Amino acid sequence: MIITSAFDSGNIIVKSAHNTNDIHLDIRRDHNSEFFQWFHFRVSGVIGDLCNITIDNAGKAAYVEGFENYEVCASYNRESWFRIPTKYNGETLSWSVIPNQDSVYFAYFAPYSMERHADLIADVSASPLVRTHVLGHTLDGQDIDMIEIGGTSKDKKPVWLIARQHPGETMAQWWMEGALDWLLDSDNPNAKALISKAQIYVVPNMNPDGSKRGHLRTNAAGANLNREWANPTLENSPEVYHVLAKMRETGMVFNLDVHGDEALPYNFIAGFEGIPNPTQKMLTNLETFKAKLCDQSPDFQRKYGYPIEAKGKGNMTVATNAIAEEFQCLAMTLEMPFKDNADMPDQTYGWSPERCRHLGAACMHVLGQMIDNL
Ligand SMILES: [Zn+2]
Repeated sequence: MIITSAFDSGNIIVKSAHNTNDIHLDIRRDHNSEFFQWFHFRVSGVIGDLCNITIDNAGKAAYVEGFENYEVCASYNRESWFRIPTKYNGETLSWSVIPNQDSVYFAYFAPYSMERHADLIADVSASPLVRTHVLGHTLDGQDIDMIEIGGTSKDKKPVWLIARQHPGETMAQWWMEGALDWLLDSDNPNAKALISKAQIYVVPNMNPDGSKRGHLRTNAAGANLNREWANPTLENSPEVYHVLAKMRETGMVFNLDVHGDEALPYNFIAGFEGIPNPTQKMLTNLETFKAKLCDQSPDFQRKYGYPIEAKGKGNMTVATNAIAEEFQCLAMTLEMPFKDNADMPDQTYGWSPERCRHLGAACMHVLGQMIDNL
């Protein structure tokens, strides 16, 4: 038996693996950080063997509620990620499986590799509506990619979509695939109407270094990028520094920042109510977006979410708040579950890349309905 995570987005430490029926592992911390929760590893040479796998340090992870009623993701072909019954006892996370192939992968959620990211950028580049730009470089020297959709006509409304500030929240980039497919479908009249009015700037992966390193939450310097928006620096958070500079160049009427939430088994939106100066128009648009998204997708809901912050009490280092205040526009954080949508559970796959893609498309449809009011 061989257990490895020495690949793009891999993360595991092998503590003992002498016998398949007693495998003990730890999750590695994000570099220069206390955060850990993302794991992704391969077990090889185990066809037909009972594998009892335990992550010993799960109870010290960043969001331990994330492991309650959670089921681990597994795959043989790295395309289809199914769920396995999983136990969490407050200290360890464990599951058992008898693989029917020699090697099997396990992950916290369906991984989204930097290789797939490169494929995504290359794919969308084929559209005549698309220009791709490299805004700068990460601390590990990777490109910070931005996709611009809309051609060369002037006087269009600038719209921004960003995802994966937290690299372990891979569902955010699966969402991006759905949003981009919707936008670039030349047979979609709603997409064509939206693009005739909006210039759309997309950063499908805000944190390439954390993604490749197998981090949950931080970049190569150990910075939580969604706490860097008040004062990003080239030394600590070049990803935010370069994206915010570009946002200031283009202006903005709308921003959606896409994430995943470890604990809550729902899709929900967190707004900007805590900023010092929200306008009534911004607040009305926030409620309208959420209501329309409920109509558009039964996978979205408004009952469960984060507590709403009082005006002036919001954390201004968070992207949604910083952007809403500076640009005085509708800015939102979309959260998707690691577990499942408890309103519409899927026992085989839980919340999945395919469902992320559908939600991405639904959000773009609602954006199209609202663009005239932004
Ligand atoms: Zn997040």
